[in-house]
Amino acid sequence: MAQIRIENVRKDFGAFTAVQSSTFTIEDGEFFMLLGPSGCGKTTTLRMMAGLELPTSGDIYIDGEEVGQKPASQRDIAFVFQLFALYPHMKVGKNISYPLLSQGMPKAQVKKKVGEIAEILGITDILNKPVGGLSGGDRQRVALGRAIVRDPKAFFMDEPLGALDAEFREHMSEELRALHDRMNATTVYVTHDQLEAMQMGDKIVVMNHGVVEQFGVPQDIYDWPATKFVAQFIGSPPMNFLDFNGMVGTGSAEVYLNDVAVTVPEVREGTNGGITFGIRPEHVRLDDGAPYRGRVIATEYLGTTQIVTLATANGPVKVRLSSADRINVGDQTGLQFDARTITLFNSETGKALKSEANMEVLFNG
Ligand code: ATP
Repeated sequence: MAQIRIENVRKDFGAFTAVQSSTFTIEDGEFFMLLGPSGCGKTTTLRMMAGLELPTSGDIYIDGEEVGQKPASQRDIAFVFQLFALYPHMKVGKNISYPLLSQGMPKAQVKKKVGEIAEILGITDILNKPVGGLSGGDRQRVALGRAIVRDPKAFFMDEPLGALDAEFREHMSEELRALHDRMNATTVYVTHDQLEAMQMGDKIVVMNHGVVEQFGVPQDIYDWPATKFVAQFIGSPPMNFLDFNGMVGTGSAEVYLNDVAVTVPEVREGTNGGITFGIRPEHVRLDDGAPYRGRVIATEYLGTTQIVTLATANGPVKVRLSSADRINVGDQTGLQFDARTITLFNSETGKALKSEANMEVLFNG
C-alpha cells in the first residue's frame, strides 16, 4: 500500500517541456485517474512515478521516501501495460506464478499465492489451460493476476482497456474497479476517456499541454471546473459557454447577457475584461416567459433524454431535456438558468472566477 506524492515535477525532452511543474498527492488505497487529451503528458507523468523516466526537476515520494532518481526496480510497483502482454506458450498458472518463481520464492508458497489470486479473479478453473485459447476477458484477468501476485505497493496502468470494444471495455472497467475495492491497493490509471475517469476514479487529475488543470473528486471537477478547458473536456455534451463583455464587480451577483439580467453566484474577485458564462446543459430550463431568448436549431434524441440546441444572441446553447418534452426546430422560447450551477470564467486566462459557490472546492475556502 502506498501514498504517492509528486512535487513540482517537470520533464523536458530537449527543448520541449512535456510536463510542467506538477504537484499532487495520491492517497493510500485510492483509484487515481490521470486524464487528458493525447499528448498532454499523462504517460510521461506515470512513467516518472514508476521510475521508467527520470524527472528533469522536482521530487517524487512513495510513502514519504524521495524516489525521484531511483530506477523502477527499486520502487516496488507493478506496471500493467495494455493487458495482453502474456507468455502465450505457458499455462495460466505458470503465467501468474512466473514473477514469484523468478524472485526465488519456494514452490509451495507460490502455489498457495497463485491459488489465492485465482480465487480473487475468478479464474481457478482455467489455471491449467494454455493462455493461447482464452477469451479476451480471461486474458485480461490473467495479466492482472500476474501484476497483483507480487503484492506491489501500487499498480500503474496506462490505458489498459484501450484496445477493447465498447461493451467489453465497460465490463472490464467494472471488474477492475471491483477488484480494486477488494484489494484496496493504490492504483494510478491513465486514460483520455473522461467517462471512464468519472466512473472509475476516486480522484482525477486533469492535464492539458503538460499542465495540471485541476485535481479532485469527480463530482467537484464536474460541478466546479477550475478552467474552461476542464469544463469542456468533462461532460458530454460539454458545458455551454456564453461570451459577453460586461463588468463583474466584487460581490456582484448579477450579470447582463444581451441586456437581460441573470443571477449568478456572488463573485469574490472582479474583472473588467471579457467574461465567459458557463452552464451545463442539464441546468438550463426552457420557459416561454423567460426574458433571455433563443430559437431551437437542432434536436438530438438520446433515448430517455434529448439534447436541444438553441441559437441565442451570445451563441449556441445546448439543453438536456426529457425526451417526453415536445420540442420542434424553429420554436422560439426563453431560457432559464439555475443560478447555483453557473460558473463565470475570465475569458482571457480561462480560469474560473472565485465565487461563493466554488470557493470551497477550488480555493480551499
Ligand atoms: P497519449 O495518450 O497520446 O500517449 P499522453 O498524454 O500520455 O498522450 P505523453 O506520452 O506523456 O502524452 O507525451 C507528452 C508529450 O511528450 C508528447 O508531445 C510526446 O510527443 C512527448 N514525448 C513523450 N516521450 C518523449 C520522448 N521520449 N522524447 C521526446 N518527446 C517525447
